[in-house]
Amino acid sequence: MKSGSGNPGIFDVAVIGGGIVGLATAKALLDSRPSFRIALIEAEPRLAAHQTGHNSGVIHSGLYYKPGSLKARFCAEGREAMFQFCKEHAIAHERCGKVVVATREDELPRLEELHRRGVANGLEGLRWLSPEEIREREPHVAGLRGLWVPQTGIVDYKAVAVTLGEILRKSGCAVQTASKFTGCERKDGLLELTTTTGEMRCSTLVNCGGLQSDRVARLCGVDPGVRIIPFRGEYYELRPERQSLVRNLIYPVPDPRFPFLGVHFTRMIGGGVEAGPNAVLAFKREGYRKSDISFRDMAEVLRYRGFWRMSSRYWRMGMEEFWRSYSKRAFVTALQRLVPELQMNDIFASGSGVRAQAVDASGGLLDDFHVVRAPQMVHVLNAPSPAATSSLRIGREIAGMVVG
Ligand SMILES: Cc1cc2nc3c(=O)[nH]c(=O)nc-3n(C[C@H](O)[C@H](O)[C@H](O)COP(=O)(O)OP(=O)(O)OC[C@H]3O[C@@H](n4cnc5c(N)ncnc54)[C@H](O)[C@@H]3O)c2cc1C
Repeated sequence: MKSGSGNPGIFDVAVIGGGIVGLATAKALLDSRPSFRIALIEAEPRLAAHQTGHNSGVIHSGLYYKPGSLKARFCAEGREAMFQFCKEHAIAHERCGKVVVATREDELPRLEELHRRGVANGLEGLRWLSPEEIREREPHVAGLRGLWVPQTGIVDYKAVAVTLGEILRKSGCAVQTASKFTGCERKDGLLELTTTTGEMRCSTLVNCGGLQSDRVARLCGVDPGVRIIPFRGEYYELRPERQSLVRNLIYPVPDPRFPFLGVHFTRMIGGGVEAGPNAVLAFKREGYRKSDISFRDMAEVLRYRGFWRMSSRYWRMGMEEFWRSYSKRAFVTALQRLVPELQMNDIFASGSGVRAQAVDASGGLLDDFHVVRAPQMVHVLNAPSPAATSSLRIGREIAGMVVG
């Protein structure tokens, strides 16, 4: 890598995106090369404004992921690094464990498959639970069989992101918020970046743009090979007087075709219990409300061949999710499979988050983390859940690609 060190106007690395992946990458770069001049460019006025600040706050165990995949590897290592980071920096967190509950006969073989995956992914202490043992851990849950996963935890990823930002600033990284990256040209062996707050030069660019990562890649002259399709996840919250229905984390057995679907209960580290999220097509990349529409975003989605192929494959699942989005009754019915006592007025609508899902031209939903490299550039094009859990490990991997 051609070094920019020494010239104050030139950065060694510019990281686009102040979500947890961009922040963890900048930190890993500084850890491996303390002398590096690093800029972190974030479009919003604050860090963690999008996926990182709107997620479920779960430190995932790594139970679900295909053994050998990047998700499986990085989740296991990232989870422990996250617990360690939170401990070191006094960020509230808890390793509370979770139960995965089979409520129908046809889910039992899938729960066994999850157990096999968990063991293959190195999880220790997994325990089968009988219906009585499920009730010992979660007194209001009805299930045929359960799996206890002790490694799962909870945290506020916004707090993690803010701490990472402070560490970066103290280490001399130029953290620029309210500065949107708008273009990139190559000149004299360096990259000239344009942002809404001015220009800068750097030797290497790392794109951690989340919901905008495909557009950032195209602005850099790189074909991302995928399109980001935004899926909103909507949450309900349990009323304070009904929070006793849930002790920790209660998950259904996921459908292997759509592992990110399936509403669950999550106790939050700051207090309260969330139920959700669902997954509906968002009409705007950063569309947190049903009424949020961007004609540019929608036109791009509708023009994309991959979207129509995806829709023809998954339309039934999509309609069910839409139905659950508009019908509280349908949402409650899904939750009642886990906690039969739950009633309509036990929950109220709370926040939402938007997932950046990379979809390829054949309509395939990219499952694993996906990175595209180009000369002097690294583009992170698919960093879905558990990327927050795995962020410190993902950051190390990307830093390794930059420093070689
Ligand atoms: C509903 C939901 C629940 C989830 N639950 C969990 C969970 O419990 N556990 C878990 O591990 N993961 C979870 N995830 C996934 C996790 O939140 C994401 O994988 C992770 O936050 C991705 O981080 P990121 O930095 O890649 O993206 P983001 O946090 O979205 O950050 C990208 C940043 O890039 C900035 N940006 C974009 N374009 C530009 C530009 N042109 N110039 C400058 N800046 C730009 C954006 O403003 C944004 O701040 C969940 C996600 C969602 C949506």
